[in-house]
Amino acid sequence: MIAEILLVQAIACGVLSAIVASNKNRNVAGWGALGFLFGVLGFIASIAVSEVEETEQSSRTKSTSRQGRKKSTAQDFDPDEHEKKCPMCAEYIKLEAHRCKHCGHEFSQEEVEQQIEEARRKIEKRQEKITQDAKLYCERSEVMVHTDMLNSDGTCPACGNPASDEKHPLEEEISGDGS
Ligand SMILES: [Zn+2]
Ligand SMILES: [Zn+2]
Repeated sequence: MIAEILLVQAIACGVLSAIVASNKNRNVAGWGALGFLFGVLGFIASIAVSEVEETEQSSRTKSTSRQGRKKSTAQDFDPDEHEKKCPMCAEYIKLEAHRCKHCGHEFSQEEVEQQIEEARRKIEKRQEKITQDAKLYCERSEVMVHTDMLNSDGTCPACGNPASDEKHPLEEEISGDGS
């Protein structure tokens, strides 16, 4: 099929060149041959160009897939890294704890599951907001951090910790009581 297109293209170039040549009273056969050759050369050139584009594209897709793999999502949620406040003694205990280590208050299995689910949803919401254009407050460094300023791996430029951790509440959450 490609060979046929190539041949048709070359003949068309040759015929066009020959017509132009005959109109100008020039060597019809010579110009026809030149047109034929240029048609082939043009095709060869286009093959070379498309090959270069292909290798450029494949290297580009390789680098983007490498970046995409590094994304951290709410799926990485680890309840072990989160805490809850005991309703009885107001001490912070592990999110998964069924019994407060400070006062002995007990949580039912349902309560614990609900608390984990709530924490997970909170993190997910926060990450959703972060991906939208948001300002964060870094409690460690006490500075405002715009999400545009985050490092390429999603960490805070001020303290180097993940932007999704507890020390980075969103601006609207901390400046809500401003008059
Ligand atoms: Zn307690
Ligand atoms: Zn920070």
